[in-house]
Amino acid sequence: MPPDKKPIPPQLGGTGPYCSTTGPLGKPPMPLHFHNSLTRRTEPFAPMQPGQVGLYTCGPTVYNFAHIGNFRAYAFEDLLRRTLAFCGLKVTQVMNLTDVDDKTIRDSRQAGLPLAVFTQRFKDAFFLDLDALRIERAEVYPAATDHIPEMIVLIQTLLDKGVAYVGDDRSVYFSIAKCPRYGQLVHLQPEQMRGGGRVKNDEYAKESVADFALWKAWDAADGDVKWDSPWGPGRPGWHIECSAMSMEYLGPTFDLHTGGVDNMFPHHEDEIAQSEAANGVQFVRCWLHCAHLMVNGEKMSKSAGNFFTLRDLLAKGWNGRELRWVLLGCHYRQSLNFTFQGLADARTTLARLDDFIGRLREAQARPGAAAAPETTARLEQAVAEFQAGLEDDLNISATLAALFNLVRDLNKALDGNVFSGADARAALATLRRLDTVLATLDVDRADDEAPADIRQLADDRLAARKAKDFARADTLRQQLTTRGWTVEDTPAGPRLKKIGG
Ligand code: AMP
Ligand code: ZN
Repeated sequence: MPPDKKPIPPQLGGTGPYCSTTGPLGKPPMPLHFHNSLTRRTEPFAPMQPGQVGLYTCGPTVYNFAHIGNFRAYAFEDLLRRTLAFCGLKVTQVMNLTDVDDKTIRDSRQAGLPLAVFTQRFKDAFFLDLDALRIERAEVYPAATDHIPEMIVLIQTLLDKGVAYVGDDRSVYFSIAKCPRYGQLVHLQPEQMRGGGRVKNDEYAKESVADFALWKAWDAADGDVKWDSPWGPGRPGWHIECSAMSMEYLGPTFDLHTGGVDNMFPHHEDEIAQSEAANGVQFVRCWLHCAHLMVNGEKMSKSAGNFFTLRDLLAKGWNGRELRWVLLGCHYRQSLNFTFQGLADARTTLARLDDFIGRLREAQARPGAAAAPETTARLEQAVAEFQAGLEDDLNISATLAALFNLVRDLNKALDGNVFSGADARAALATLRRLDTVLATLDVDRADDEAPADIRQLADDRLAARKAKDFARADTLRQQLTTRGWTVEDTPAGPRLKKIGG
């Protein structure tokens, strides 16, 4: 994916060049490139503030358990934040929690629960799922219901500027006719910009483009969900939530904003319109959108009913590490077809990587005080290739190729017995570094991570073997298997491995 060489267009407001030409701390330009959905080009990226990146990621609507399609978006954003950190940048990531909108109100009422009680359950589940998928925590998780006053101030600013109006239904609408740049993200054509219509729903198609609701006047369907405002009781529209919360934590202009492609319209288009109309400066410098997770050629979604939650997969015996591998293994701008065969392949690949790391751990006991120059050079080459892959718009194929080529070469070196203990330690240190991005290698998962009773079974089995009581040794191996562990006899002694772990 070579970067496009076309000139960068002038930007709205006085916020400086789109992507600066110097890297952090005055170093030469960084080779980091991202595909910017706004310009539809792959461009060099450097943050506004040297060394510091502001990243806004649209978070979950907490009306149900997130499905693994949603987690494709969050896993891609995790790869992005870990890549930025790998490149030496400090990341401030803000991920909102949409805990009031059309869907949360509808379903909390159906469940007969107060909105806050209803959404809390799904907020808690979301964080548990993030941990299972090894998704690093964002710096801030603002909830929409904690930022209603900021949203009211922002809506008032839009009214004062004449780009919003109070409708006869006492809801407040954004007037797209007052916003000549409306449609810049999804490249709407002038004939698609119909005048006069307005839409109160949060979600609508490009074909129904219209003035959208900033504030929705209370109606009976909202039950007791309402806040006071200068326009009467009501609640914010979904889009204004993200404008207000991103501004609150990242300022009027920030570096990166992400989401799945389905968020581009109307959600991100409306965020741009509101934020830029209110602040008069460019909202986001670079937009990144991930393609969908599909099932049988269809987008995985709640409405289509073709979804799996992480819990569904755990119940079928898969784990978060395996799903993470599947989600990260495909470039974020390519659609990914979810299959159970894909999970099975991930299990096989991870088992091979575990074996390789196990060999390196054993080899640490070999003699050798300093790594050989050729090992050091090979490891440096791997890190450089790994980083170059990431810097090329998160080109995960190149990134993983760097890892697999290294594994192949080091496995050969280990076979030849020319690999010293110091070489092994250097290789493990490199893998630890790569794993700050991949978070799947488990470099330091040691045998003694097995619980004490499992270790006891393994010790008893070893004793039985030594006593040539092979029947008892087999029984003990069987017990270990039932408990989810295998034991491998290696020259350095028995090694415990979690099945599918
Ligand atoms: P929602 O909770 O519906 O607002 O979605 C949360 C995030 O998941 C958004 O960034 C969506 O764009 C993203 N998303 C929803 N469905 C999918 C899918 N099938 N594949 C990838 N991302 C998705
Ligand atoms: Zn959003």
